[in-house]
Amino acid sequence: MSDEDREVDGKPDQPTPLRGPDEGVPPHPEGKRPSVAADITALATGLKTTLGEFFSPAVTLEYPEDKSPRSERYRGRHYLRRYENGLERCIGCELCAAACPVGCILVIAAENTDENRVSPGERYAKTYEINMLRCIFCGYCEDACPVQAIVLGPEYELSDTSREKFIYTKEKLLEPLPPDVQARLDSKGPK
Ligand code: SF4
Ligand code: SF4
Repeated sequence: MSDEDREVDGKPDQPTPLRGPDEGVPPHPEGKRPSVAADITALATGLKTTLGEFFSPAVTLEYPEDKSPRSERYRGRHYLRRYENGLERCIGCELCAAACPVGCILVIAAENTDENRVSPGERYAKTYEINMLRCIFCGYCEDACPVQAIVLGPEYELSDTSREKFIYTKEKLLEPLPPDVQARLDSKGPK
């Protein structure tokens, strides 16, 4: 059977009529036909936006060489602070651990002695650890601390290569000694 003989619903199949250039184009809302001048105007408007963006300053940062500024209230990596005389602020009260909603802070306190004074209070944190994989950076620990010992800083590049490295120990959290205190301790030589 040839194509000409094929029938649909009992009627012979009709060839598809050719469509005109405006066929299928929705009518202009005001009944006007699109003009070449209107097309050029629309094209020029689009190009003006494109060129305006092309010559405006780039907003892309060359990370990691360039880093975007953090807001003052940004909550990133934790630090344990010291006083200016080098003593640790933390007094081992465990209020930060109690306030932490995910239980990722471990504090084990010990008594200060005259021979080993670590903080101004009766006790200091012998062990201080934060599991950074569980931390949600809510800042409750910072708010709960009575001596502003634990703070969240602006550092946000915290990726690492193993789960163990995300247990931040006291040694990792404690900020360095002030330079003059460090120099004084160095001048005394090793104990
Ligand atoms: S920021 Fe929040 S989740 Fe992280 S250690 Fe502090 S209290 Fe816990
Ligand atoms: S960091 Fe602050 S709240 Fe936490 S144990 Fe030390 S003194 Fe207490």
